[in-house]
Amino acid sequence: MDFSVTVLGNSAALPTRNRNTTAQVVTHNNSIFLLDCGEGTQNRIREYGIRFSKASHIFISHLHGDHYYGLPGLITSLHLYKREQPLTIYAPPGLKPIIELNLNVSQTRLSYPLHIVEVHESDLAIYEDDFIEIKPITMRHRIPCFGYLFSEKKERVNILTDALRDYKIPFDQIESIKSGKDFTHAQGYTIPHEKLVVKRTARRYAFCSDTLFNLDYCKQIQGVDLLYHESTFLEADAEKATERYHCTAKQAATVALHAGVNKLLLGHFSSRYPSEMLFEQEAKAVFEHSIASVEGACYEIG
Ligand SMILES: [Zn+2]
Repeated sequence: MDFSVTVLGNSAALPTRNRNTTAQVVTHNNSIFLLDCGEGTQNRIREYGIRFSKASHIFISHLHGDHYYGLPGLITSLHLYKREQPLTIYAPPGLKPIIELNLNVSQTRLSYPLHIVEVHESDLAIYEDDFIEIKPITMRHRIPCFGYLFSEKKERVNILTDALRDYKIPFDQIESIKSGKDFTHAQGYTIPHEKLVVKRTARRYAFCSDTLFNLDYCKQIQGVDLLYHESTFLEADAEKATERYHCTAKQAATVALHAGVNKLLLGHFSSRYPSEMLFEQEAKAVFEHSIASVEGACYEIG
């Protein structure tokens, strides 16, 4: 089952010639979720060939422009495409009147139902389906800000390809074996379930948007397969980072280390630095499995 994140924008407050402000697409099985929607997000969606018509849920971290100014354009384009399926946007309080003003002034009556759901501090899932649940993570920024934790609900059971071949298991038996049953061959002998499958633990992805350095949310994201964490500044500018409620690459790596995650993906890079690799180098000195995100790249989760 596919579980991956594609980075559409990894620049901090200002877009650069080559980089856009924050947006990511998380794909799980056949579902697509958009995380943040900085200016230019819909162009990136087209550029990277993402089938956005399949997306029904958008999660906004906070209401600084570099995280949601792409929404009015995207909402309008979906209307021009005559979308009919509902779209739900999750965001801290304040987004609804902004979007309603846009639609009212332009006298636009959307072709599809648009729901805007306020996110508040909570341990409860704000979204769930048969396969995945999404919970907010409280960040510390100048205004209310949330990260989002994606957790698969069930461990995955996959049939071993060797077993399929060696025991000539018919296609119609696969679901029954996956559900825990043994396989009885046409010749009468039985192969126990445990010999036919491999079990993989449920995977998790944490998206940690703009925040002042703190370790409060480490418990919630403990051991995730992939942590995206903002790293706006380098450590040489740690004072600026604190003043502006942001993190350095070293601080992001400290969070990753403290939370015992498997892999750290860095982003939200300030345009003042000449290369994103500087962030990766700084983070690696603290947490080895750190990578600087690249726009357009798709990162497997788990
Ligand atoms: Zn930002």
